Formats: sequence, C-alpha cells, structure tokens
Amino acid sequence: EDGDLVQLRFVYVDEVDCIGCTYCAGVARNTFFMEEEAGRARAFLQGGDDPEASASAIECCPVNCINYVDYENLEILEK
Ligand code: SF4
Repeated sequence: EDGDLVQLRFVYVDEVDCIGCTYCAGVARNTFFMEEEAGRARAFLQGGDDPEASASAIECCPVNCINYVDYENLEILEK
C-alpha cells in the first residue's frame, strides 16, 4: 500500500529430513548455512540471495526438504 516491497514467501529447511549434503549452502550461501552441531542446513537470512539463487537451492535439494512458506507459517515452524 505504501509502495515499499514486501516479502511474501520465505524459505524453510525441514532439518529432520535434511541429509547434510551442503548443496543449498553452496548455491545460496547468503541464505543457507550448515549448522555445525547437527550438520544440517538452516536458513539464516531471508532474501539474502536473489530469488533465482534461492529457487536453485530448493531445486538442488536431493530430499526436497526446503520449502517456501508464508510468514505466519515460518514463525510457527521456527518455534
Ligand atoms: S540441499 Fe537439502 S539435504 Fe542438502 S544440505 Fe540443503 S537442505 Fe539439506
């Protein structure tokens, strides 16, 4: 309404299903990192990479455990 861009979708890694291959963190390194203790990927900065890089990271995941979610669901999932 005020002309500012608003992010409508966010990336979320289901860390239970992540196999720790590191692909996503290599493709979109400003969005995903490998959490050291569990060895699984996590999104640390929403919108850190351009949308194409984030989409490529999602596509390269061999177990399809990265998804787009809306803000409401992101808050629920992160808890
Ligand atoms: S590409 Fe998928 S399985 Fe591989 S580290 Fe990222 S989230 Fe985990």
